[in-house]
Amino acid sequence: MKMMNLNQAKFKEIQKKIDTVIIPIGTIEAHGEHLPLGTDVLIPEGLVEKIETKMGEKVLIAPTVNYGHVWTLAAYPGSINISTEVLMQYVCEIGQAFVKAGFKNIVLLNGHGGNIPALTTAGERIADLDVQVITFNWWIDFKNEILQICEGQGHAGEDETSAALAVAEEYCDMSLAKENNRQLIANIKRKNIGLLSYQYGLSGEATKGSKEKGEKILESVADRIMEILEQIWKDEIIV
Ligand SMILES: [Zn+2]
Repeated sequence: MKMMNLNQAKFKEIQKKIDTVIIPIGTIEAHGEHLPLGTDVLIPEGLVEKIETKMGEKVLIAPTVNYGHVWTLAAYPGSINISTEVLMQYVCEIGQAFVKAGFKNIVLLNGHGGNIPALTTAGERIADLDVQVITFNWWIDFKNEILQICEGQGHAGEDETSAALAVAEEYCDMSLAKENNRQLIANIKRKNIGLLSYQYGLSGEATKGSKEKGEKILESVADRIMEILEQIWKDEIIV
């Protein structure tokens, strides 16, 4: 059930029936030379597309938060940075507005690593209103599943390239896909360090990405998210 397509009467109806809202959150950022700037938006949207198809009226799909926090790759063309503070406040207020509208499970489906600190704090503040906030960072939370399909992971690397090919092949140019296996010796922050560590705006082996792997990744991640939601609805939250 996509909120963007509902009128207010239909929204009022589903408010009574649905207590879970999924908010996809991405960013606009360079993704190697071969993937679109909107990769981190397109992949969560691909996931909610699958979830909506299978779960129908069990979840409300909120409009996507398109902009996010970009620091490491801010120097690359097409990276648009929103500060962690502003993103935190923005997501927090969106979540709180859904709580006010009666939703009890606020799901933050994140596509971008730089958003994590903002989403952690936003999640805590929303949860303080006595609701549940479930945050999925798909490439981290489902790493085990992904590594059964791909050899490696990375920013615009094998896994993300594959997922991007599955959702938006027309915007990917695999003739520009490269490899970058540089690693910093520690978590070093320095202005424009991404130009050094994320050569080409990339980490990992983009050349190994394929649409077939991407379709398997999306299927597997969407299935896991749905399984977890079903457990949460039964309040089976401990493994
Ligand atoms: Zn990404």
